Amino acid sequence: MHKRLFIPGPVDVADDVLQKLATPMIGHRTKDASDLQRSISEKMQKLMYTKNQVMLSTTSGSGLMEGAVRSCTRKRAAIFSVGAFGDRWYKMAKVNGVPADKFTSEWGKPTTPEMVDEALSTGKYDLITITHNETSTGIMNPVEGIAEVIKKYPEVVFCLDTVSSLGGAKVEVDKLGVDICIASTQKCLGLPPGLAICSISQKALDAAKEVPNRGLYLDLLTLYEYIQKKDHQYPSTPSLPHMFALDYQLDKILEEGLDNRFNRHLEMAKYVREWANKHFEMLAEERYASNTLTTVKNTKGISVSDLNKELGKRGYMISNGYGDLKEKTFRIAHMAETTLDEVKQLLSIIEEILGL
Ligand SMILES: *Cc1c(COP(=O)(O)O)cnc(C)c1O
Repeated sequence: MHKRLFIPGPVDVADDVLQKLATPMIGHRTKDASDLQRSISEKMQKLMYTKNQVMLSTTSGSGLMEGAVRSCTRKRAAIFSVGAFGDRWYKMAKVNGVPADKFTSEWGKPTTPEMVDEALSTGKYDLITITHNETSTGIMNPVEGIAEVIKKYPEVVFCLDTVSSLGGAKVEVDKLGVDICIASTQKCLGLPPGLAICSISQKALDAAKEVPNRGLYLDLLTLYEYIQKKDHQYPSTPSLPHMFALDYQLDKILEEGLDNRFNRHLEMAKYVREWANKHFEMLAEERYASNTLTTVKNTKGISVSDLNKELGKRGYMISNGYGDLKEKTFRIAHMAETTLDEVKQLLSIIEEILGL
């Protein structure tokens, strides 16, 4: 039996979108391949509110996170972490020999503009990474305030992880001044895992030109230059099935209307937060709570894995807490094509199982 997924990726994919993965192959050095990438790029620019070039990487989102910190750090990176995925970005810097410092918030607390200002004012850093939406703790960082501070430091390349928010919450790349905005397909975009997407600014590209050892497969400058020179093709063979499906899914997203889509996510989030506050507690402070998933504190001491087993028998699946938060929290994703009615159904089944 297929379990309806309420986990923060991979998400359920609509049948018509799944069908697009089965599109017959085309040559990746053909005009059709160029047209496909160009079409995706133009639609992604609308979703990201940017004029910057959009690039795809046949990796999951982590591939472009690693590529960004390695390709564009000249001096030193300031890595801000509010959970597991910020920690991962720091690790990527370290293992690639990129000089970096980590600025950690207590789990459940955000990165604040003040923290960012304090770090950047030292003048030590020329690249910063921020997690927009931290999928372990359910925090959505106050990115507008953070962006305002970063604008005071024009030499700093601003990298933003929107892996679990792009497509579910408004991220205005150009207005925020984001130089590299990163997403992957299997979360709010409602596609299977396997492709990562980023926008890249001229500033980030200029920075990369000064970095000697950028690697090859994940080098953002190599990707960019190839796209420019070869009319939207890639140095190596991209996942064409994902590209067919992404192009189609972006039409559906734009058809729904971006504001409608973001509002649908917010409505679901509000409903789950209210439920969580009634029966448990939320890990995140309400004003920093994510619009795309909710991390619930297990204040009743239930067995989360038993709950998930019972849900599984009924055809549903949620997520246990991430890492050290396992059994101490559980996570309910409300992203991609999920509807408020489906969320209500899930929560009433949880109530029934737990006797709430
Ligand atoms: C899922 C996730 C990642 C990792 O993305 P992959 O596509 O699994 O590599 C990074 N950051 C955040 C915030 C995520 O939710």
